Amino acid sequence: MNIKRNVLLNPGPATTTDSVKMAQVVPDICPREKEFAGMMKDLRADLLKVAHAPADKYTAVLFCGSGTINIDICLNSLLPEGKKVLIVNNGAYSSRAVEICQYYGLPHIDLKSSVFEQPDLSAVKQALDQNPDVALVYTTHHETGTGVLNPIREIGAMAHEHGAVFVVDTTSSLGMIPFDIEQDNVDFCMASAQKGLMAMTGLSFIIGNEAEIRKSKDYPKRSYYCNLFLQYDFFERTGEMHFTPPVQTIYATRQALNEYFEVGETAKFARHRRVIEAIHQGLADMGLREVIRRDIQSGLVASVLYPDDPNWNFERVHDYCYEHGFTIYPGKISTTNTFRLCALGTIDADDIEAFFLVLRDAFRKYGIQCPAVYHN
Ligand SMILES: *Cc1c(COP(=O)(O)O)cnc(C)c1O
Repeated sequence: MNIKRNVLLNPGPATTTDSVKMAQVVPDICPREKEFAGMMKDLRADLLKVAHAPADKYTAVLFCGSGTINIDICLNSLLPEGKKVLIVNNGAYSSRAVEICQYYGLPHIDLKSSVFEQPDLSAVKQALDQNPDVALVYTTHHETGTGVLNPIREIGAMAHEHGAVFVVDTTSSLGMIPFDIEQDNVDFCMASAQKGLMAMTGLSFIIGNEAEIRKSKDYPKRSYYCNLFLQYDFFERTGEMHFTPPVQTIYATRQALNEYFEVGETAKFARHRRVIEAIHQGLADMGLREVIRRDIQSGLVASVLYPDDPNWNFERVHDYCYEHGFTIYPGKISTTNTFRLCALGTIDADDIEAFFLVLRDAFRKYGIQCPAVYHN
């Protein structure tokens, strides 16, 4: 089968290998068969390895849904009665966690800071000192909306000193940026299969401290479908998901994990570095400006400032690139007009070089100046 290859420079889902795409084409199977449960058991064990999580302390729990389901589940399931969540918020994804707290009516502190910077650690310390009832500290590892990487190890240390559980949204970093759940002081991390693992959409997973999940059995139950203990307990007792799993997506994830371990964490990280370096270079060559300081960037997302050019039109440039096999993505910074180029997926530096030829063609076609112009 010949499948058209698109280069996705959006922040996930990412470009996948053909072998991962084809892994979805399997004989029909009822997911209650032992064969399928056996595959999920191995998958859960292998997901722990991606986070370097020791199997005697951590467990991986699978869910059917996009990455946001993990945020929802962790927040609604892991907060004891009468306690508070502290959200260290410097971007769109932590703001999503704040909204989830609002929807569930969870007591929370929204410790908001500039989306262009890393959070101020002394403000985190102060918030913890002033709020002894904080039992859950939450942040985002890589704020995909801007490309800022957050200092989770330091925040985690403060959370633990305070006796709080530390939950981190690692959706857009796990499997891409080296991460060690214990060294990074994380109790719960999460991702969905279509980002770092380069599989398909529809499977999400939480990797977390098993003792904390067991403790949460007695916490208030705020959701039925999205309760962490319920799903964990069902897996432990039966080896199955409580409700129907995304069968074909799980086969694709199995294949993607095999490919992940074949390549290895170090080589994969090096490839992501090559891709982002090619992106930085291509942007600089066109005079396009990035909005986030290089030293706090994740190395997975470049946020590019719209040029001050009357002919600039994101939609038109996007459509031109799309017609030529490349997808670019709008930014998520409400106050600044940006678009994003991301280094996720099974792409390499040559794809980025090919992309910049197309982008230059788009600039030429629509009369956008190159090098790009900025008024200040
Ligand atoms: C992609 C992403 C999510 C999940 O978004 P969905 O649209 O639900 O897949 C959550 N957090 C971060 C940081 C992400 O990049």
